[in-house]
Amino acid sequence: MKNILCNIVNPVSPEEIQFLPKQVISISESKISAIIPLPEFQGILDEDRSNEYALPGFIDLHTHLSQYYIRGFYEPALLPWLNKYVFPEEERSKNMAYAEKLSREFFSAMRKAGTTTCVIYTAPYFTACDIAFEIAKETGIKALIGMTMMDMNCPENLKQDSNKTLEDSILLYEKWHGKNTDLDYIFTPRFAPTCSLKLMKEVAKYAVEHNAWIQTHLSENKEEIELVKEIFGLKNYTEVYQKAGLLTQHSIFAHCIHLSNEELQILAENKCKIAHCPDSNFFLKSGEFPLQKIENAGIEYGLGSDVGAGTSLNMLHHTKMMNYRQSSYPVLPAKALYHITLGSAKLLGLESKIGSIETGKEADIVFLKPQRNYPLENNGISQLVFCGQDFSITKTLAGGRN
Ligand SMILES: [Zn+2]
Repeated sequence: MKNILCNIVNPVSPEEIQFLPKQVISISESKISAIIPLPEFQGILDEDRSNEYALPGFIDLHTHLSQYYIRGFYEPALLPWLNKYVFPEEERSKNMAYAEKLSREFFSAMRKAGTTTCVIYTAPYFTACDIAFEIAKETGIKALIGMTMMDMNCPENLKQDSNKTLEDSILLYEKWHGKNTDLDYIFTPRFAPTCSLKLMKEVAKYAVEHNAWIQTHLSENKEEIELVKEIFGLKNYTEVYQKAGLLTQHSIFAHCIHLSNEELQILAENKCKIAHCPDSNFFLKSGEFPLQKIENAGIEYGLGSDVGAGTSLNMLHHTKMMNYRQSSYPVLPAKALYHITLGSAKLLGLESKIGSIETGKEADIVFLKPQRNYPLENNGISQLVFCGQDFSITKTLAGGRN
């Protein structure tokens, strides 16, 4: 048992953040066993963090572990950037020692940034993905991890045989699904331009039968959209995934910038989820996420760092970008924070376990210290979103572990 005195900042809804000053959080093994206001607390304090804020560990809905080292390598368009930087870098993860070093540094950086749950693409190699699981397991971090699948239109060293990549993905699923409450496998066809319809259909069939998670990219860049139409001869991008059977309530589509109203409706009808990655979208000049239209369509979404096109693993940075990358629609700080915590927990079906600091939930907590004493109950929440760099992350607990 450990008792920590701090000030709790808890997301309640996209409109509301609860501020609870001077609370003692009691942690027993991996969980929060009690939250007691300081005047009522009668035990012994282990840590006095009365000048710090405690937020639920952040959730990153979309990131590429395999691209962690190439953040900031500039090429302002998706397809040339993939060819010039991403594919050569992902090939390096064929080497086991490289993949292990990369995974260790990635998870360590993620924790330092306050993220305790993430949805990850690894390089297209069985061992690179398996190593990522092994290292995540040591850390207490929650993750959905998937091996990127590509069976066409990519460099030879990355191209997989359609049957083999499906077999490897199923092996990884069987190895990691249901074995550890913190980790699960997510089927990961990279995106339509590098995946045959046959492969995507097989993935969808297996995933639907097993109620498994799926992730891919959708409608990020205009050139990409034209390429998809050319390859598959269909009227829009979403129709390709629909034909493959990939539109499920457990499917997370990254970006979704240039969708027609018809496509939005199809995604909504199928209860598909969206990972919104504003930093990446402007790094690659992909375009502006139609946030208001997505909300009006009633599609669930959350924020993703999309490292390496995203420049940072720090999700507070992405809350600010969520606001800044809407040219006229103001995103309130409470909403931005909600989409890196409770909102994304709900999207993943994990709200009874993570997403807010409550008794019975996992002790996934990030502690932030302001440079000076911000009065969080007033405009301090805004300062957390817009001046996140002024708060230092002093500690991240993932399942109660440092
Ligand atoms: Zn991505």
